[in-house]
Amino acid sequence: MADSFRRKMTSYEEVNWQYNKAAEQLGIPEHHKAIMRNCYRELKVQITLHRDDGTLSELYGFRVQHNGARGPYKGGIRYHPSVDMDEVRALASLMTWKTAVVNIPYGGAKGGVNCDPRTMSEKELQDLTRTFTRKIDMALGPYRDIPAPDMGTNAKVMTWLMDEYGRKHGYTPAIVTGKPVNLGGSKGRESATGLGVFFTTLDHGIPLSGAKVAIQGFGNVGSWTAKYLHDGGAKVIAIADVDGAVRNDKGIDIPALLAWSKEKKTVSGFPGAEPFAKEKIFAVPCDILIPAALGGVITEENAGEINARLVVEGANNPINPHADHLLAERKIPVVPDILANAGGVTVSYFEWTQNLQQFYWEEKEIQQKLEVVMDKAYAEISDMTKKRGVSMRTAAFMVAIQRVYDAVLLRGI
Ligand code: NAD
Repeated sequence: MADSFRRKMTSYEEVNWQYNKAAEQLGIPEHHKAIMRNCYRELKVQITLHRDDGTLSELYGFRVQHNGARGPYKGGIRYHPSVDMDEVRALASLMTWKTAVVNIPYGGAKGGVNCDPRTMSEKELQDLTRTFTRKIDMALGPYRDIPAPDMGTNAKVMTWLMDEYGRKHGYTPAIVTGKPVNLGGSKGRESATGLGVFFTTLDHGIPLSGAKVAIQGFGNVGSWTAKYLHDGGAKVIAIADVDGAVRNDKGIDIPALLAWSKEKKTVSGFPGAEPFAKEKIFAVPCDILIPAALGGVITEENAGEINARLVVEGANNPINPHADHLLAERKIPVVPDILANAGGVTVSYFEWTQNLQQFYWEEKEIQQKLEVVMDKAYAEISDMTKKRGVSMRTAAFMVAIQRVYDAVLLRGI
């Protein structure tokens, strides 16, 4: 193992490292192993954006379709300064495995633009989204590739994407998921990833009542996860976001923090908790640690600081393989991203099916269906973990790879 870590792996190499480990366990033949590991189609487009101050910005947009054996490509669009082709490839690959883990009929894709949405006006964001949509239009389609929100994007961005796509192709709500409910979005989509993280935490069997929770990220995933865990009886004692971190060992008043962050756009300065250094979020002693912000945040440098009984990956790819190994040595179980945060894409799938039928479901029905999907996936991964004596991450990859491999063989090459 040490040899693999002489130089820092890229995000895509990290995902492939986990993939290779699981594919070897399954005995997938070498040529199929490579075909399923590599990306099918990669687009990189130049975007010129007229800024409000009269200057011109040059940005780059990406859309990567990783594997479409099980259905149309599906994956979010990220707006963040660190977006590059390698990161998008990694996230697209994770989407292939995630949709297979929860057994929904999609392939994997991802996209993004290397912009900083926090410094952009609404007009700039809309212009950027419309230009990006036009430039990747040829790769999209309701039965070809269906984007969704991710870090830095939201229901508003998805509406602009749908609207721009519709100018050329006519009314097509199924072109994107994560839309506002009154424009064809699904009830329960906004909270779905957090609810899925909650369900998998429950499935793990750790008693929630009084359990101490620390969360990195208080955006879509982090805030809904905090809400469900708080409502379920857990004590959320520490939360970090990009601006700072807050801690209260008696338990943070989550409804009050949600109201604060809605207004201030940060957890920083919240009067019901003490501030601390956001980098120390992973060192907070707790029962459940939930990274729900960026990828690559738990590494060999800080994995030793973790003092938790369970780690649940709300974010995509937050733990590098070296840190994963160190946590396994310390017997700290990790519920992997491709299972834990699959609630979002599952309800995206429900949104897409509702759009195609033009027939809409109630939130309760959606949440019940989500719970069934998440519980089934958890049970299948848990079975594989026990049967093959592997980590939950390797087991999740094994279940997913087997499903994609079966689809590849059935289709024929
Ligand atoms: P978001 O943009 O809504 O929120 C991101 C949060 O991370 C914010 O609170 C931000 O302040 C925080 N953050 C950013 N940089 C940070 C730093 N350096 N330190 C601490 N906090 C930092 O994004 P999101 O949609 O909640 O996505 C979060 C993660 O979950 C991403 O990895 C994303 O890929 C993954 N994910 C999202 C969904 C979804 O449905 N939104 C689904 C599956 C996985």
